Amino acid sequence: MSSINHLVRSNILRLTPYSSARSEYKGWAEIFLDANENPYDTGYNRYPDPLQWKLKERISVLKGVAPENIFLGNGSDEAIDLLIRIFCEPGVDHIITLPPTYGMYKVSADIANVPVKEVLLDKDFQPDVAAILSAADGHSKLLFLCSPNNPTANSFKLDKVQELLAGFPGIVVVDEAYIDFSGQPSCINLLAEFPNLVVMQTFSKAWGMAGIRLGMAFASEEITGLFNKVKPPYNINQLTQEVALEALENQQQQEEWVQQILGQRVVLTQYLSGLDYVQRIYPSDANFLLVRVKDPKSVYDFLVSNGIIVRDRSRVALCEGCLRITIGTPEENEQLFRALLEFE
Ligand SMILES: *Cc1c(COP(=O)(O)O)cnc(C)c1O
Repeated sequence: MSSINHLVRSNILRLTPYSSARSEYKGWAEIFLDANENPYDTGYNRYPDPLQWKLKERISVLKGVAPENIFLGNGSDEAIDLLIRIFCEPGVDHIITLPPTYGMYKVSADIANVPVKEVLLDKDFQPDVAAILSAADGHSKLLFLCSPNNPTANSFKLDKVQELLAGFPGIVVVDEAYIDFSGQPSCINLLAEFPNLVVMQTFSKAWGMAGIRLGMAFASEEITGLFNKVKPPYNINQLTQEVALEALENQQQQEEWVQQILGQRVVLTQYLSGLDYVQRIYPSDANFLLVRVKDPKSVYDFLVSNGIIVRDRSRVALCEGCLRITIGTPEENEQLFRALLEFE
């Protein structure tokens, strides 16, 4: 008995997915004349594994999630786009987001002509559970929770996430792009309890692999099955699969980077708190700081003129006056601080 089929667009339930040449044969073979590939070995003349089993098995060990419960996308951005196309009937269904948050949820929905209901975070940047649940109805197919949240840098309280998982009528997507920098446990631990949960993580931040475009989604087999049905057959290219496997062999490097960045987060916080035009540094569970300054536009322009680019979030609701600053290397943070000392 499916617990989520009633949430899926009917055309997707009926869809006959593309069947790739390599997924049709069963058993052993050594001569492949089925996919119109060039037979001469370049290292890349064959189509890649459409389901990336080798990579998923490695990620499975790392995350404690079975390979069947993993979907890999061309960045988390592909997972966001596919979720909207799987669950939301354009012009009929909607998604719910909690601004201020990551911009791609709304952009993907806008492209698909799927309306977005926005329920602002509260003044502590936490989800307003009662307001979200009262905004939700039978057409609320997806709720995007970004925790730690971009750009506010905080994590959502676990009891609020659990209340939303229990009470929201649709799929709850927890975007954990910054989870490796957080003191909070991953919502991966809740997958067994909530069939309507999708947890997204990425190689773009802690793993230092934004350039290979690889995002992960963890969910029930029902949901990963839908992802696999709808995704482009070869969405993760061979180069990405190989480079990701190499990166995963060096988990210690990733851990060292995370420790270094967490240390620099403290250092940068100390630097900034000594500047009189810095009004507030929000607590961060991520690899960036949200900082309220007296005249954000001038600080931003001054940094640009010094060859340093930060993100101006000062016109975003609840982030008035704020810049978002990514934690760099110790040298970069030092240069940022020296530039900021010269401001005014
Ligand atoms: C950076 C970021 C991502 C990463 O997206 P990719 O497509 O995997 O690079 C996802 N979600 C949030 C909130 C982010 O800030």
